[in-house]
Amino acid sequence: MIRPSDLLVPRPEGLYCPPGDFHIDPVRPVRRALITHGHSDHARAGHAAVLATRETLDIMTIRLGDGFAGTRQEARPGVPLDLGGVSVAFHPAGHVLGSAQVSVAWRGLRITAAGDYKRTPDPTCAPFEPVPSDIFITEATFGLPVFRHPPPEVEARRLLDSLALFPDRAHLVGAYSLGKAQRLIRLLRDLGHDAPIRIHGALARMCDYYVSRGIDLGRLEPATVPGRMGRGFAGEIVLGPPSAFAATWVRRFADPLIAFASGWMRVRARARQRGVELALIISDHCDWPELTRTLTELSPAETWVTHGREEALVRWCALQGRVARPLHLVGYEDEAED
Ligand SMILES: [Zn+2]
Repeated sequence: MIRPSDLLVPRPEGLYCPPGDFHIDPVRPVRRALITHGHSDHARAGHAAVLATRETLDIMTIRLGDGFAGTRQEARPGVPLDLGGVSVAFHPAGHVLGSAQVSVAWRGLRITAAGDYKRTPDPTCAPFEPVPSDIFITEATFGLPVFRHPPPEVEARRLLDSLALFPDRAHLVGAYSLGKAQRLIRLLRDLGHDAPIRIHGALARMCDYYVSRGIDLGRLEPATVPGRMGRGFAGEIVLGPPSAFAATWVRRFADPLIAFASGWMRVRARARQRGVELALIISDHCDWPELTRTLTELSPAETWVTHGREEALVRWCALQGRVARPLHLVGYEDEAED
């Protein structure tokens, strides 16, 4: 009888698989890393070998440079690979383009590490695919009952309503450069907003990459145009990464309306802290109902809970008569990128 910890065990550098000799999303350089998606706290440079989906490998190249790993190998979704006798398969996680769950099977035991995931439909990436598993490892970024994300199209509509109400103000929207920015643009397009959307230079390469993978983002134009400072961009949507809002970039715009798209915008203090006038609650993570629905649907024999509000979800599982435990992995920031 094998124990789950024989197959996957938390180590300081990340989740480790002893028989396969690999780590999942390690936070320190290792010999072989399986990467769930391209966000910076999961996809780091310096591993000897990296196995990930094609999109995640491309995204890592864009963000970290061509030499981000010694060797790289593409994992095709749903196609199992053998690593030291362990069967490894990547399945879509619905988080950002290329994001995957990593499912490992060995001697009759299957553990699926979902990585970051969500269940709300997102036209910019493949939907989360439920994988029946003995043990399911879930994130808990928004693992409190208070977190309920409104429908994303309702939030995107609020931005367009504001634009109609304040046509003299540039609407500056903070959005993470991988995933959130492209999803928000796509949401706006689906609501019929055909006007050019301006993007900060830091978003350009990732938007170009999404377009190259078949995601139509409509007309995008640079947010920096010589001679169009001051009153320029009134009535236009301008997207920038969160870091730009802490810098002098914002001062280029006269009387801008500051918006921000994040699941954290549910927390008023966070919105205030960022000086956000229009808080758009759009998240690439599960909210509380999505988390509990997923655990009910998958009904694994055991649930491991990681990065986020682990205790509340573990407690919920206990009340449901489900076996669960927190993993206490370190190094995954709950706000850095998502
Ligand atoms: Zn992420």
